[in-house]
Amino acid sequence: MNVVFLYVFNSSMSPKNIERGKNFMYILYNTNFIYTHLFQDNAYWRSKKMSNQVQPIYILPENTQRQSGKSAQRNNITAAKMVAETVRTTLGPKGMDKMLVDSLNDVVVTNDGVTILDEMAIEHPAAKMIVEVAKTQEDEVGDGTTTAVVLAGELLKQAETLLDQNIHPTVISKGYRLAMTKAVDVLNIISETASVKNRDILMQIAGTAMNGKGAESAKDKLAELSVRAVLQVLEQDPKTGEVNINLDDIKIEKKTGASYNDSKLINGILIDKERVHSGMPKHIKNAKIALVDSAIEIKNTEIDAKIQITDPTQLQAFLEQEESMLRNMVEKIKKTGANVLLCQKGIDDLPQHYLAQHGIFAIRRVKKSDMERLARATGGKIMTNLDDLKETDLGFAGIVEETKIGDEEMTYVKQCKNAKSVTILLRGGTEHVVDEIKRVMDDAVGVLANTVKNGKVVAGAGSAEMEVSRELYKYSDKHSGREQLAIKAFAQAMEIIPRTLAENAGLDPINVLTDLKAAHDKGIKWSGINVYTGKTMDAYKEGMIEPLKIKTQAISSASEVAVMILRIDDVIASGPQPEQAPPEQGGMPPMM
Ligand code: ADP
Ligand code: MG
Repeated sequence: MNVVFLYVFNSSMSPKNIERGKNFMYILYNTNFIYTHLFQDNAYWRSKKMSNQVQPIYILPENTQRQSGKSAQRNNITAAKMVAETVRTTLGPKGMDKMLVDSLNDVVVTNDGVTILDEMAIEHPAAKMIVEVAKTQEDEVGDGTTTAVVLAGELLKQAETLLDQNIHPTVISKGYRLAMTKAVDVLNIISETASVKNRDILMQIAGTAMNGKGAESAKDKLAELSVRAVLQVLEQDPKTGEVNINLDDIKIEKKTGASYNDSKLINGILIDKERVHSGMPKHIKNAKIALVDSAIEIKNTEIDAKIQITDPTQLQAFLEQEESMLRNMVEKIKKTGANVLLCQKGIDDLPQHYLAQHGIFAIRRVKKSDMERLARATGGKIMTNLDDLKETDLGFAGIVEETKIGDEEMTYVKQCKNAKSVTILLRGGTEHVVDEIKRVMDDAVGVLANTVKNGKVVAGAGSAEMEVSRELYKYSDKHSGREQLAIKAFAQAMEIIPRTLAENAGLDPINVLTDLKAAHDKGIKWSGINVYTGKTMDAYKEGMIEPLKIKTQAISSASEVAVMILRIDDVIASGPQPEQAPPEQGGMPPMM
């Protein structure tokens, strides 16, 4: 450590200037003297007992950034609001799409809240918390991501007004929490029951999720596919009537080169792979399927090995040895009685040839998620070691065959032991189109699964939010003072959904909200906005139906994150790690 001290003294010293750099210089000015410390290591402060010296105290690393109090709060709120504002224009059937271009110039065109936020690669910590809201919504319900984010933004906007009136964040938080609980209660009370058997309602729910998305023109077709898929994979307990559904049983596969209308539902699993060898049969009946997740290859040694061969017979023996090992692997599979091999890893040329000789249909590099799905559907077991593979580990499917879809070969695994596996094959003109249809289909399947599990639905088109808002205003009257203001602010924030639906449809939001309020006051609880006419409508009767969970989840996660952001009064961000300087070549080692 090379520390240079340059002392110039005076009676009272105060730090005036702190410069960042490899060598830190603390220049403490005074009337007559200047006192300078030059450190090799800036985090190091040698305690010097000197009279009258004021020493800076460091509790954080040097490049930490800190922001506290009101400015921290306001910055966080602004960042969160900006995120909400970004996705707000996409809400509803008349919402617009976003085009996102990443650093590799890949383009995504979408209307889906969570996808937009994901692609935006947001960095601000508070803004990231809003993105989390969208992700939770996506995981829990599968749809309603934009709604959740827009609500969170509006709750913060309303809170800002209260902060301006000097209402303390903890009071706002308390009011918001009360309002959130009440809102969820209200939704539960006003919700309607939807039975699994009511196919019409399921179609309407799928349709509502698809409104305004790129695939709208094929809405009926796609809604029908999603309903059929969900109904096929659900399991209902005959005694309790409880419904269970495993979304992994529904595989959504996409392929370009045809129109939406050519999309279809396939009973069984479609794998986006072709058989490895043209000598293999294309079509296998009564397939006994070996599922293997290790490579059918000779393993390369971990360390480089050199084999010295001194005469040609040795080379021949070596090759024969390899060949017989590979042949052995195939024999092991053959012996179990398998006529199909689905391998998660590679299959070498030679075993491909042997497999073809035995009439075994094989595909390689099957996705892990597909392997798991196949195991469940065919009742087979995924094996790693071929030595352990037995007949009982094999899965069963009525048919395994290769077919051409678009200009690519794919493999069908149909009539599985567990008939609950289905694949929705989505078609579309271009890659961007099918990608967006897939997102829409994910949403639709998500809301349907949620509906059949919970059996509770509410109406959309802003009706549920308006009713919640109305009830919250009433509820706020039971409270007094600042808490009441917070509950009222929450109630007002709920109006952002119908307001945004109206704005995005080019309607006058004030007129629309006035009409809606009047209708709700008259007791029409499902009065929502018809974005095409600007008039109010009974959204339930018109079939704008959504699962209850979409709304309860959106409201609770939005208010939780709003409260969390409100309560932050200090942001301490550690700066980037200082880059390691490359070791100097040749020169003198640094003096330390
Ligand atoms: P999210 O990501 O929140 O699902 P969407 O863009 O899918 O966002 O919009 C959902 C909103 O659009 C919901 O409030 C829903 O009730 C509303 N909505 C859907 N269809 C209609 C319609 N035909 N008329 C009015 N509102 C609709
Ligand atoms: Mg939606």
